[in-house]
Amino acid sequence: MSTELTTIAYLIAAVLFVFALKRMASPKTARLGNLFGAVGMLIAIVVTLLASKPGILSDARGLMQDWGWWFIIAGALIGAVVGGFLAVTVKMTAMPQMVAMFNGFGGLASGLVVFVEIWKRHPTGSDDLYLVITVAISTLIGWVTFTGSLVAFAKLQEFIVSGRPTVFPLQKIVNFALLALTVGLIVLWGFLPEQRVLIIPIAVLASVLGVLFTIPIGGADMPVVISLLNSYSGLAACATGFVLGNPGLIIAGSLVGASGIVLTRLMCVAMNRSLANVLFAAVGTAVAGKTGEQRTVKRYTPEDAAMVLDGATQVMIVPGYGMAVAQAQHAVKELADLLTDRGVTVRYAIHPVAGRMPGHMNVLLAEAEVPYEQLYDLDQANAEFEQTDVALVLGANDVINPAARTDEGCPIYGMPILDVDKARTVFICKRSLGPGFAGIDNELFYSDKTMMLFGDGKETIVSLVAAMKE
Ligand code: NDP
Repeated sequence: MSTELTTIAYLIAAVLFVFALKRMASPKTARLGNLFGAVGMLIAIVVTLLASKPGILSDARGLMQDWGWWFIIAGALIGAVVGGFLAVTVKMTAMPQMVAMFNGFGGLASGLVVFVEIWKRHPTGSDDLYLVITVAISTLIGWVTFTGSLVAFAKLQEFIVSGRPTVFPLQKIVNFALLALTVGLIVLWGFLPEQRVLIIPIAVLASVLGVLFTIPIGGADMPVVISLLNSYSGLAACATGFVLGNPGLIIAGSLVGASGIVLTRLMCVAMNRSLANVLFAAVGTAVAGKTGEQRTVKRYTPEDAAMVLDGATQVMIVPGYGMAVAQAQHAVKELADLLTDRGVTVRYAIHPVAGRMPGHMNVLLAEAEVPYEQLYDLDQANAEFEQTDVALVLGANDVINPAARTDEGCPIYGMPILDVDKARTVFICKRSLGPGFAGIDNELFYSDKTMMLFGDGKETIVSLVAAMKE
């Protein structure tokens, strides 16, 4: 394949990546965006394999020389089968963990590729400062991303480690001292470019740093960290692209790096927290606020709730993390259809950080084929609550907690919330009076206008539908 053709093909792939990102910004066009991205990546992979210069197997020796293409085909097939299987079987509540693993392996791939590049192609070291610096950057970011993502996965899965922040004395000082040492080694390598052996301590220190920077962060803040690590994996890929002189990798890596940072910022803004607070404040070390206090709530049955819904003309459904846990999205859609058939206006209020990752609720509701035009974002929904007869909260807690507006001392003070308390009646479906991620009590449970419907979210909605049909 000629160099011109290769460049044009990379350019087409890059354009597809940009269109993919643009389309992924809205639930309506996200599927098409995904397809664009996948086609772009397929083009980039095929072009990389076919490009004549430098040629993917040009300096292969021994087994790789004889069997190289078969190794590549087998690797691609195994990867496709594992990826396809995971995509089909992963639970929606485990999606952040899956993304964490994808990022981690992206970082690992960058770290390994640049290691092979410097070790195999430059057996006596390189006097090329540009090469040394890009290899060192890719190594640092790649290994931090890999081990940081493994810790993020383990925390979310509560596998080996707990989801709570792990803190120890002088933690920040130790972390920054190690970071300074790693940067120092990179600078030293710059002065002694033939000392390729320096890549090993840099990779080891970067791996330790990935663990140390991630363990003090609480499990529920992991989606923000995963988004940041996603950005890092892009930067590592970009640096690897410079090492290999591969424009496709440079462009794709930059796009991932930039979009990951934008998403990280959006999540922080939606929680009204700074990135520094997420990364360094160890939020979630202790359960904040008062919980479990002896107070009275009004407990209702689905039959009682069905009677109230009979008189409603406008209903706002407010899904949260509990809907994902209960997998109640199909039952909710059935309830919404029933109400719509009876002339009730039904909408869904989607908070940007409801659930455990951005777009969590949109994806679940799209799976149940809820029409996009019924999905209201924070501002649209808040403009409607005063005219809403029933706000039906399903497994949401922090994102509807009025303390975010009123209680300066509470951990979520200042976070924009859904003003559910302004609706005429509020149904809250959850299993107990237990808190949400922020670990704080919710005054709304005790309000005169609130009807608590205790139980698993899906079972409650199914019973509500049955009661309404009666
Ligand atoms: P919360 O974590 O505040 O509350 C979820 C509620 O769901 C719990 O109170 C729980 O109560 C209930 N629940 C759990 N299982 C079930 C079930 N089977 N049936 C019914 N209810 C159930 O969720 P929100 O969505 O309101 O808020 C998300 C939180 O996560 C916010 O604090 C946000 O800042 C944080 N976060 C979100 C990110 C994102 O990108 N989405 C990123 C980082 C943090 P009970 O146990 O009583 O049933």
